[in-house]
Amino acid sequence: MQLPLGDDPRTETLRALHASLIARFGRIVRPPEKRREPVWVLVQGVIGARSKTAVSNASTDFLLEHYGSWDAVAKAPLEELTAHLARQTFPEQSARRLKDCLLAIAEKRGKLDLSLLGDMPTAAAMEWLETLPGVARKNSAGVMNTSTFDRSALVIDGHHRRVMQRMGLVPARADTTRAYDELMPVLPPEWSAQDMDEHHLLVKKLGQTYCRPSRPDCTACLARGICQTGRGLSP
Ligand code: SF4
Repeated sequence: MQLPLGDDPRTETLRALHASLIARFGRIVRPPEKRREPVWVLVQGVIGARSKTAVSNASTDFLLEHYGSWDAVAKAPLEELTAHLARQTFPEQSARRLKDCLLAIAEKRGKLDLSLLGDMPTAAAMEWLETLPGVARKNSAGVMNTSTFDRSALVIDGHHRRVMQRMGLVPARADTTRAYDELMPVLPPEWSAQDMDEHHLLVKKLGQTYCRPSRPDCTACLARGICQTGRGLSP
């Protein structure tokens, strides 16, 4: 039987987690001027595999400034793009994915522009984005949530997924798409798109500090009392 919206016990756990994260780390609110246009966010995600956010942000800004338009980036030789993406963790792969993705948008749309997504429901827009080469759920949610679209969609990166798995809020082997499908219906219904953005940034911080990939610091962790893994440890 489907529970009414907000009645899943995970909803209250997520509320409690969010409050504890704010109490520990403070607010992380993305100011409106930091919301970038949708193609910028898409490009930042496509080139960003295993790279630090600041590096991918700088590379994305550089590409647009250097070439002057996303059309010109799409037409740039692959070797040239690879050289410009030297600071990314996987420069060749990033360049190839970027070129394939931009050319696919140009082919589908006739121009490098994602404004059509603004007229579509969020789920349909994400589905459209995920047909593009190199675009998976993290990136499609990022385009809808953190760009000027400002839509309700939870971004889930590797840190976020790991924390949710360990807390028992998604199945232990859930991939990003499964984690998204599990979490979206149980997010507190009062959360806005900005709340979801802040929640992701705070959970990511938890994953970078206490809930690290190896040797999580459960003893000191703010989430221990509401975490399946943390509660199972001896005091
Ligand atoms: S209690 Fe441990 S497993 Fe749970 S979120 Fe904190 S660090 Fe991660």
